[in-house]
Formats: sequence, structure tokens, C-alpha cells
Amino acid sequence: MKIHEYQAKEVLASFRIPVPRGIAVKSEDEAEAATKKLTGDLLVLKAQIHAGGRGKAGGVQLIKDRRDVRAKARALLGKRLVTHQTGPDGTEVRTLLIEEGSEIARELYVGIVVDRRAGKPVLMGCAEGGVEIEEVAARTPEKILRETIDVPFGLHPFKARRMAFALGLAPPLLGKAQAFFTSLARCFVEKDASLVEVNPLVVTRRGDLVALDAKMTFDDNALYRHPEIVAYRDLGEENPAEVRASEHELSYISLDGEIGCLVNGAGLAMSTMDIVKLHGGEPANFLDVGGGATRERVTEAFKIILEDKRVKGILVNIFGGIMKCDVIAQGIVEAVRELGLRVPLVVRLEGTNVEKGREILAQSGLQVTPASDMTDAASKIVAAVREKTMSGARR
Ligand code: GDP
Ligand code: MG
Repeated sequence: MKIHEYQAKEVLASFRIPVPRGIAVKSEDEAEAATKKLTGDLLVLKAQIHAGGRGKAGGVQLIKDRRDVRAKARALLGKRLVTHQTGPDGTEVRTLLIEEGSEIARELYVGIVVDRRAGKPVLMGCAEGGVEIEEVAARTPEKILRETIDVPFGLHPFKARRMAFALGLAPPLLGKAQAFFTSLARCFVEKDASLVEVNPLVVTRRGDLVALDAKMTFDDNALYRHPEIVAYRDLGEENPAEVRASEHELSYISLDGEIGCLVNGAGLAMSTMDIVKLHGGEPANFLDVGGGATRERVTEAFKIILEDKRVKGILVNIFGGIMKCDVIAQGIVEAVRELGLRVPLVVRLEGTNVEKGREILAQSGLQVTPASDMTDAASKIVAAVREKTMSGARR
């Protein structure tokens, strides 16, 4: 799960990590009111979306004159901000963060992710922070420094100091840097984060270290023990179909292709996507209905696929184990009864109650193309979609 910058800064502040003073707002009026509570000559107005790259896209505005705040807030609120991380459609800005501006002497980068090879979280640092970190990583990866974090202990003091020196943070900044990195590591571990990123971490002209930007992602499997993080969830930032799927405990991820896939089991779902691609098709989604899905859940899953406008064909690939084939068949029939079927449907069923499942599909009068195995299923759905696209083009 992702959270907004202003929320991430609240989390950082709770670990005594220095962040600028700021207020999150949702309207021009709130923005103007907020300026009265903040001090200093410089304010910063920042679009709150679950994506980075806002600075280059106009989503970060410096305000030297408080009278400009209304106009600048108006220009951002309700706008779809397109950054290199949002995709071409961009993301609608519904919240702004107004902060007391910092005078920047240096911009650094620090972040923590899990290093799967080391089996530990790793603190990454770079002396060239700011908005170009992806390019630094691509062109000169040796400039990204790393220190592993010992989960039970935390970040060892010597490693925190070694990172600080490597980033050119000598005394009197050394102590502040050590405290900053140690707290950041503690935050990552205690909150079950999968990513914590501060870019830029700035050295101010007054000689302070401040987290000027903050990005955090959490491990969904650990959210049950962090109700305070779950409370930050902003459904408006998430794909509506994915939100709906998660309400029904379905593992669903929307993709860009044209073949909708309904599968049970994550491994089978992945190999189904692979085999679709192998036959020249592009999957429209990843969908694992899970082992113990009820008929209602399967119905909901199939409806999500049917309602996806990009879907030009559907492939159902079920290997019934705990999941029974007749439950799947009933779910499909029910969803189609409600929404109709406007695209070709190829079904491969195998395993528990397969005969019953085939019978339900046969008796429903649905236009189903049965498939004998995965290769057969993938080639049939890809051919059917191609056929449909070509006949559409001829018309
Ligand atoms: P991102 O582009 O989405 O990563 O947004 P950031 O929060 O990182 O802001 C982008 C850039 O805006 C930073 O690298 C800074 O150069 C600039 N910026 C942000 N806040 C301030 C501030 O308080 N003072 C000054 N002078 N610049 C700022
Ligand atoms: Mg940034």
C-alpha cells in the first residue's frame, strides 16, 4: 500500500525525523487559511499524488508572495498531473501540501528497500539527490552507496557514520546524519515498509538535515498489525477495479492487454499470462480467484473482467483442487446472466468436479469454446480475438 507525502512525513516525524512544517489542504480556502498558520518568506505548494516526478511536471510550486497561493492552488486542484511515474493519463490532484520552504544548501538521496540477495533491508545513499536520481542510477550506479540493516538490531552506528561520511556529511552534521539514518531504518522495520525514500534529503543553509520529500510503501501482508497505516489508505488513488477486487478478497491487477484471464492460484495465473503472450496475445489482467472462492466471489471476479472495456476475449483456466470446477462454472453463468457476454470465451477446466462444471456450462446455452489444455486454450483465445478484431476492421 502506498501513502501520500504528507502522510509519510507524519510517520517520519513520529520517529523524530525532521520534516518541514506543513498542512494538507483540499480547497483554495483551506490553502489560504493554512498560509496564516505557517511562517517564513517562502512557502511550497505540493500536489499530493501517489507518484513522484512532480517537480518536473509543475506539481511543486514555490510561493514567495502569499497572495499567489489561491491562484496556484486553483491551478493544481482538480488537474490531472502527468509525471514520468503516472503513465500518460496522469493522476487527479485532490490534495495539496503547503509547507514552510527550506533554503537548500545541498540535495542528497536516501532510501531503504529490501535487498533480496542480502536478505536484509538496505540503506541506499547518494550525494547527488533531487529530481534526477533515476538517471544517476542508470548512468553511474557506483554513485549509489549501500549499507545493510540488521533487522533485530537496526542500523549499526558505524554503518550510519560510514554512510554519512561517504555523503560528505562531516561534523557538525555527522551526529544529525547518524540519528537521521538510524531513525529511518527503525521506521522501515517497525512499520513493515517495503520502501522508504527521502529525495531530496536536504542540508539547509542553517545547517540542518531535513526530509524535504518522502515516499513510503508498505507490505500489504503486514497491514493487519498497522491500523494507523491502513487509516491513510486513499482509495481515490487506486485503480477502481482493483479496489473492488480487494473488497472481495480477489488478487487482481489491471494490465494493458486485451485478453481477460480468470485463473485459480497465483502460479497458474502467471503461467497463463506467459502462455497467452507466447501465442501473441496480451493479458488484460492478472486475476487469481484463490483456492476457497465462493460462487459470489467468482461471479464478482468475472463481472470485473466483463466490465473492462479493453477486454476483447476471456480465458478461464481452472485447475480444480480445493476450488471446485462447478463453483467456477456457476459463477461465470451468473455473471453473464447479469451483464451479457460480448466477447469470445475460452474455458479450460480440469480437476475436482470437472464433469459437473462442464455440464453447467453446456446447459447454460453460453457460447463457450472448450479447451483441452493450456496451449490449446491460449492459442484458441488469441485466434478468436484476432478474428474478431479483423472482422471489426472489415466492417
Ligand atoms: P518530486 O519531484 O515529486 O520528487 O517532488 P520533491 O518534493 O522532491 O520536490 C522537487 C524539487 O522541488 C526538490 O528537489 C527541490 O529542488 C524543490 N523543492 C521542494 N521543496 C522545496 C523547498 O522547501 N525549498 C526549495 N528551495 N526548493 C524546494
Ligand atoms: Mg522527490
